[in-house]
Amino acid sequence: MTPNEKKALVKFKEIRQGNTVAIAGTLRSTINYAGEVCKKLHKMGYLERLLPGQFAIYKITPRGEEQVKKEGEAERELKECAIGAEEEGKEAIEEKGEYECSECGAAVKEEDTECPKCGTILEGYEEEPEEEMTERRRSSLDSGSPES
Ligand SMILES: [Zn+2]
Repeated sequence: MTPNEKKALVKFKEIRQGNTVAIAGTLRSTINYAGEVCKKLHKMGYLERLLPGQFAIYKITPRGEEQVKKEGEAERELKECAIGAEEEGKEAIEEKGEYECSECGAAVKEEDTECPKCGTILEGYEEEPEEEMTERRRSSLDSGSPES
């Protein structure tokens, strides 16, 4: 499922039924494109077509609603560990070059000795054998002193 298909389906869950114009508005796309997205969702069994044509009207099916729910749950699981990150703002955290807990993915500060979310001990990260950590560390050093 593409992000746009998902967006359209979420919109249908909100409005129950609607035409391609409403979906074009949601996707900020042309009506033709919205029509294609709706057709795909229809083929997948997530939408019921009430009226065919360029301004076709679709209605979400129980299967479609189930899919929205599933996608929502998957997203929530991904976000759950990043609650701390959301509070401070994800962009700010990236700019500050902070780290992620290797256990739960929560944002941790460089000076933190344990994950604020799951409590995993983070000490010894300087000798972190994982390549990813070493790379991130190196790149943050590089940005500090371009010569080294
Ligand atoms: Zn953690």
